[in-house]
Amino acid sequence: MKPVRTTCPYCGVGCGVKATPGVGRAVTIEGDAAHPANEGRLCSKGTHLGETVGLEGRLLHPAIGGKRASWDKALDLVARTFARTIKEHGPDSVAFYVSGQLLTEDYYVANKLMKGFIGSGNIDTNSRLCMSSAVAGHIRAFGEDVVPATYADLDEADLIVLVGSNTAWCHPIVYQRIQAARRQRGTKLVVVDPRRTETCEDADLHLAIRPGTDVALMNGLLAHCRDQGLIDEAFLGQSVSVPDGFWDGLADRDLWSTAGTCDVAPADLRRFFDLFAANPRTITLFSQGINQSIRGTDQVNAIVNVHLATGRIGKPGAAPFSITGQPNAMGGREVGGLASTLAAHMDFAPGNVDLVRQFWSAPAMAAKPGLKAVDLFRELGRGKIKALWIMATNPAVSMPDAGAVRDALSACPFVVVSDCMVRTDTLAYAHVALPASAWGEKDGTVTNSERRISRQRPVFANPGEARPDWWIISEVARRMGWKSPFAYDRPADIYREHARLSTYRNNGRRLFDIGHHGAISNPDYDALEPFCWGGTPFADGRFPTGDGRARLVSVRQMELADPLVQWPFTLNTGRYRDQWHTMTRTGLSARLSAHRREPLVEIHPDDAADLGIADSGFARLITAQGESVFRVQLSDGQRHGEAFVPIHWTDQQSTGGRTGRLPRPLVDPFSGQPGFKSTPLRIEPL
Ligand code: SF4
Repeated sequence: MKPVRTTCPYCGVGCGVKATPGVGRAVTIEGDAAHPANEGRLCSKGTHLGETVGLEGRLLHPAIGGKRASWDKALDLVARTFARTIKEHGPDSVAFYVSGQLLTEDYYVANKLMKGFIGSGNIDTNSRLCMSSAVAGHIRAFGEDVVPATYADLDEADLIVLVGSNTAWCHPIVYQRIQAARRQRGTKLVVVDPRRTETCEDADLHLAIRPGTDVALMNGLLAHCRDQGLIDEAFLGQSVSVPDGFWDGLADRDLWSTAGTCDVAPADLRRFFDLFAANPRTITLFSQGINQSIRGTDQVNAIVNVHLATGRIGKPGAAPFSITGQPNAMGGREVGGLASTLAAHMDFAPGNVDLVRQFWSAPAMAAKPGLKAVDLFRELGRGKIKALWIMATNPAVSMPDAGAVRDALSACPFVVVSDCMVRTDTLAYAHVALPASAWGEKDGTVTNSERRISRQRPVFANPGEARPDWWIISEVARRMGWKSPFAYDRPADIYREHARLSTYRNNGRRLFDIGHHGAISNPDYDALEPFCWGGTPFADGRFPTGDGRARLVSVRQMELADPLVQWPFTLNTGRYRDQWHTMTRTGLSARLSAHRREPLVEIHPDDAADLGIADSGFARLITAQGESVFRVQLSDGQRHGEAFVPIHWTDQQSTGGRTGRLPRPLVDPFSGQPGFKSTPLRIEPL
């Protein structure tokens, strides 16, 4: 059979895949050499994609109260219960919690239903946990959530700085591209990460900074640039607003004080500063180590400040570059699928609300942001949210303080879960379970970390009674009385509407504009080649703010408290190379599972000796939220007082090593993103 050109679902790199169907659910996977994101390369997760598409563990039929039901009965019940709840308690008594696993078309329809027809901003997404601090930082600096780089910039950079990113494991094809640039161009590589990870092995310099000191590091770098005469005064004068007192805020940031705050050797810091000074073509690539912090937005702006002040933006090989975790976090950002955004990169400014109301002919337009993820589940626990629809995500495991999330789900009068898998911890709380299409059946578009829109195309027919998410949401909307606004026959109908909204009364105010696809034909949509929207953002020195100027944002390093006696350690969480999220799909592959067979807590050998714990022994990890038992792996790549655990294992998969109950639910004040990297912790030997 002919290969189907589609896109890998296992991270935000968004690699092109050629999938050749065989007998039954068999499929042969190879990298798509014509896809610009990966040029034929695949990492282990992409290579073994075919081992994760079997029907074992699939949710194949709708269910009410755990018993199989017809689609009609299930959809009627969802529509009726949401309508009654809204009538009795108002639109803000219901919520959707969605996912960066959804395709853009699914996301668009969910956002339209909640914000335009139900009339609430209460739709948030698991992308809140992943990159919402980057969104907030971009909006503060640029006026719009625009990622200013593409992967091609990595090929043209002379210096790449990776901050808070184990790129070798979490975005492997980006890392391979960086390694290729190093071989071909001699690109220098600096890694800033409290942990010594696999990403550091090939680096020219690893700065193992004290956790939470990224603002001090970047402010120190900026002060150094100023002292060395590296500020691009012409660019600042023409294109950037500098707030009063901005430079005064850097007064205490000399090399020595910065090295002291960050707990790194002054000579190493000097080397980093010198590399930065010598290489104007710099990409600073950052990921969850920056975003998943209670100061995440400030940390993003500290990075962006350096690039704006030195004019390293809008040019080949020079930009700050946020890399997303999920395959379609960016598509969700484009449709406005965060509670804090409206649609098509617009916020809730009154003019935008009117614009979208008019475009959708919306009867009940939301006029204010809704509840962000952590607040949403908190209000669920308080009984304020009375009907919740969860799509393609597993918050009973992945939210911070997941034990409290489980209690809230138990107490909620009506929980709907759309998913492709049966054995998710969240599905156990569903009053109504709806079987959704999975990768290989889905049909639509995704946007990767570099703003590249690509097609996901079906390889198989939907199994059992599984249906696409956009169809499920539209069916519920129609049964709630909104027939014609949700009369979509195919994903292309939704994509065209999304494209038209991106350009509707835009007049160049926003960079997100794919309006030329508003009339794309069905065959052209089917054949759509991957493309990046936005060109080279800010190349003309203009930014999508009211006055066309970017903004430097004054950010200060916060005081870091010493650990409390009862919580002498800090818990850090992250990924393993070969697993994805809560392992509901990648856990099906024996080869992927062979990389790490069990979850381990990594701690420094000296800490282990103090605790009386041997390598491969067991330890109990205790936080204010919960506790779990892990096998111990000694690692001198860990800083003293730090413990690292993977996020993947759940109650369904293991009796120990369950991370979800441990992290605290504190969030960044601007983005609402939880600070997963810094939960106070106690470790006890077993
Ligand atoms: Fe898939 Fe990401 Fe690996 Fe590419 S890098 S093959 S998108 S998991």
